[in-house]
Amino acid sequence: MTIRFDGQVAIVTGAGNGLGRSHALALAARGARVLVNDLGGATDGSGGSLSSAEQVVEEIRAAGGEALVNGANVADNNEVEAMVQQALDAWGRVDILINNAGILRDSTFSKGSLDDFWKVVDVHLKGTVNCTKAVWDVMREQGYGRIILTASASGLYGNFGQSNYGTAKAAMIGLMNVLHLEGARNNIRVNILAPTAATRMTEGLIPEPVLPLLAPEAITPGVLYMVSEEAPSRVIMGAGAGVFAVSRMYESEGLFLPEQERTPEVIAERFAEISDSTGQHELKEASQQTMRFVQKAATALGVA
Ligand code: NAD
Repeated sequence: MTIRFDGQVAIVTGAGNGLGRSHALALAARGARVLVNDLGGATDGSGGSLSSAEQVVEEIRAAGGEALVNGANVADNNEVEAMVQQALDAWGRVDILINNAGILRDSTFSKGSLDDFWKVVDVHLKGTVNCTKAVWDVMREQGYGRIILTASASGLYGNFGQSNYGTAKAAMIGLMNVLHLEGARNNIRVNILAPTAATRMTEGLIPEPVLPLLAPEAITPGVLYMVSEEAPSRVIMGAGAGVFAVSRMYESEGLFLPEQERTPEVIAERFAEISDSTGQHELKEASQQTMRFVQKAATALGVA
């Protein structure tokens, strides 16, 4: 099996640097026409310049590919709608959206300002929602779409000093879960990438000897699979240093407590049983939780 993207159109946000650049170059090398979006600017979101995105477009063209440059701020919905229109005017369709643009404003929750908190959420969450909304109906009408949301181990597992970033990144899970369900009938598949890479975003955080292992190019093949025709849907793929893994969320079997035992004290006493991971469940949609709890209670009460 060879994965190709001939005839397809991809939008990659924040593609002037790091991971987005790597994804854009790899998609173009396998035949996709790529809109290379990047606002430019520093890691904290200040400033702006088209030059890095222009360079990526030049690299794609030099290798014989087709690309367009775009400087939209993903947090600005008017600019995002114009970006999608630019791709449609040039190429008539959008098959792939990789939401990748991002910034950092690290600080403890105590010391950080609310302005910085919402600025980070704006770029990651509002930016992802804006871009996804702008291509959604295009993909529905085409009966084809592949979307990547870029999360982070910070959102999945927590990272000291990143409450703003972790909040925005964990929100990708909720967005993916619902869009996976809503997009299925129109062949739209939505997946999450949780990368770990040596980029300007992680500069100074990664010890020198392991930097070469953590090149963005070690992650991009996982993204190409998740935006291919053979893509899975609703997968959280962790990737870095050439390692590819999948994260999942489980609910413990749980414990039914009869009415007279429903006290915080009993819950404290029996918390080990409540949280026991033996026989845990992976649920496919929200209603399964309600059904499972009702059935468990009914069985315990002998009314099933
Ligand atoms: P990077 O700083 O090299 O690239 C991010 C790009 O996004 C930059 O080119 C920047 O100009 C662009 N950008 C920022 N704000 C924008 C906006 N409002 N509109 C359009 N473009 C904008 O960082 P990276 O490490 O390549 O990060 C890419 C994505 O991966 C981010 O979403 C980041 O949060 C995520 N991520 C990275 C790591 C890692 O280890 N590098 C880990 C977890 C998640």
